[in-house]
Amino acid sequence: MKYINLIIILTLIFINGCKKSINMEEQRIYIIERVGPAQVVQLYADGFEQLTIKEKIFAYYLYLAGLAGRDIAIDQHHRNALEIRNLFEQVYLYQSGIEKNTITKITEYLKLFWINNGFYDNLTSRKFVPNITFEEFKNACIIAQNNGANLSSPEENLIKKLNRLRKIIFDPNFEPQMTNKTPGLDWIKYSAVNFYDKNITYDEIEKWSKSGNEKNPLNSKIVKENGKLIEKIWRAGDKNIPEGMYSNYLKKVIYYLEQAIPYAANEHQAMTVRLLINFLKTGDLEDFRKFNINWVKDTANVDFILGFIEVYLDPRGQKAEWESSVFFTNLEQTKLMTNLAKYAQYFEDKAPWQDIYKKKIDKTPIANVINVIASTGGSGPISPIGINLPNEQSIREQYGSKSVLLHNIIEAYEKSTGLELVKEFAADEEEIQMQEKFGLIADNLHTAMHEVIGHGSGKVSDKLGDKDPSEFLPGYYNTLEETRADLVALWNAFDDKIIDIGYAKDKDEVRKIGETIYQQTIRAGFTQLRKIANSNQLEEDHMKNRQLIFNYILKNSNAIKIENRNGKTYFKIINYESMRETIGKLLGEVMRIKAEGDLKAAKELIDTYGLRVDTKLRDEVQERASKLNLPLYTGFVMPELEPVLDPVSKIIDVKIIYPLDLTKQMLKYSRFTHQIQG
Ligand SMILES: [Zn+2]
Repeated sequence: MKYINLIIILTLIFINGCKKSINMEEQRIYIIERVGPAQVVQLYADGFEQLTIKEKIFAYYLYLAGLAGRDIAIDQHHRNALEIRNLFEQVYLYQSGIEKNTITKITEYLKLFWINNGFYDNLTSRKFVPNITFEEFKNACIIAQNNGANLSSPEENLIKKLNRLRKIIFDPNFEPQMTNKTPGLDWIKYSAVNFYDKNITYDEIEKWSKSGNEKNPLNSKIVKENGKLIEKIWRAGDKNIPEGMYSNYLKKVIYYLEQAIPYAANEHQAMTVRLLINFLKTGDLEDFRKFNINWVKDTANVDFILGFIEVYLDPRGQKAEWESSVFFTNLEQTKLMTNLAKYAQYFEDKAPWQDIYKKKIDKTPIANVINVIASTGGSGPISPIGINLPNEQSIREQYGSKSVLLHNIIEAYEKSTGLELVKEFAADEEEIQMQEKFGLIADNLHTAMHEVIGHGSGKVSDKLGDKDPSEFLPGYYNTLEETRADLVALWNAFDDKIIDIGYAKDKDEVRKIGETIYQQTIRAGFTQLRKIANSNQLEEDHMKNRQLIFNYILKNSNAIKIENRNGKTYFKIINYESMRETIGKLLGEVMRIKAEGDLKAAKELIDTYGLRVDTKLRDEVQERASKLNLPLYTGFVMPELEPVLDPVSKIIDVKIIYPLDLTKQMLKYSRFTHQIQG
């Protein structure tokens, strides 16, 4: 009886919810503006109002904690990035009298800086520069300074400062790349990312690290002092622990985390926050491990990712970028993911890799669909659509991992993207129709499988001991692991269990969704070349993984027919079965490489298929795409939270606001940091 009542109640809520959201969406603005290659889109967090007051206040303090650490991420991108941002923000704020064209160009640069958290493009890792001359900028700075802008210090006047920063801001060939993993080059010397002193070489670090000197690979900057390498650990410090790098930011982060504790959903979540505070104080990775183990088991409705998380920016794949996300569960959508997670063992058993690498899944991985409230650093304004954490392999194997699918981000992408690209690059009319009908569900299923049964799967060889496979595969692990997760999704895309899970109604629909996923995979493999300007190799791990799969199928199967019509190249899938077989073969090998930490094989595979770009195809794709004038990536304006206070200034509720304005939000963020930093 209870069960039936619940269904009726849920149905009513669903119908009401649906009507409401249709009305709301009609007036909704998603696309706010276009800035060079980027599109600015407003993110909406539907359902925030329905949270309990306690949950809202918890989310509010976590949101402030995230903002308090935001500048760490910017500093990590380049050692002068914060200084340069403040310079441009001051000129923007005191712009009266600056020539119109000049201030327009300054504003455009500043917006791209905000979106990318620095002056390196998130897709190519390449530097972008303002579209004005140094002289024009200098004149603008002088005007701004006369208007009251704070552009100098007692030690350094404006002109000296500009001369010092000139090459960094204006010369695209000086420190041209944030992360550079070109084989043969010194990855440390040629990467501008602020994880290593500029006078250290890759070999020097590897030698030093291999002799057991590296204690904080995840959370430190390596510097050279008196000829010796030293780790500057990112930590706030505590009674007996000295302050580390970024302690000023981390202390504020901790302050807001402490405010959040009384509003935690339960004792477990309160403990999660305390463990995070402890780690941010000590910087001890053993404390980070304790936090992660607790966090993985934390199933509260409002949840967060905060701290030093993803290692994509480090050419060595060790040091983590600061990131913060606060989010809550989207219950309806979560049901689908939970269903998928129930079949994790089933999919593991039928994986195309050797039985010794098959995992016994005793805990079903948590698979939540969430709505993001606000993300900064590594996850904002540019956001991923799926996240699987923690990254540490031994925790994943022992305690499982948490997967989340970012529903409102995916929705906002969809509302702001048309079918133009598909129409240009699809092999035929049928493929366009498939995308129209099944594109969204195929995308959702692919992402869900990538995160839940992809990253969550597989067991590494005992030969690796207690070491993480990433340590055996420096510079190659991330691409390999992203490839593996994608391949698991592709391998299982035609499985009839998809009906039971709830993504398809019958076998025919399973087939169509599966075919759509395969078509999307092939298209993604080459249309992404539109995003890399004149680079002749890829840097970003997900892009490499997509190209690797595309090239591998192209060269090792008869699944694809290449057609040339009116000077345009089309890739048509003519044999889905052959494509799936090839995917299985590749997946078996990728799993083996990970399980055995086989660096030689990883290099061979990734450098052959994932790295170098077919420049002829690149130019064609770019020419065709340029006519469509599509944005290359999206920066989100995040929802903002504002406290509702009672007469004695006690917080009694939290309001959510959608500012629809990137500039306003970014200046507000900076003001907040300046305020709390005094
Ligand atoms: Zn992934």
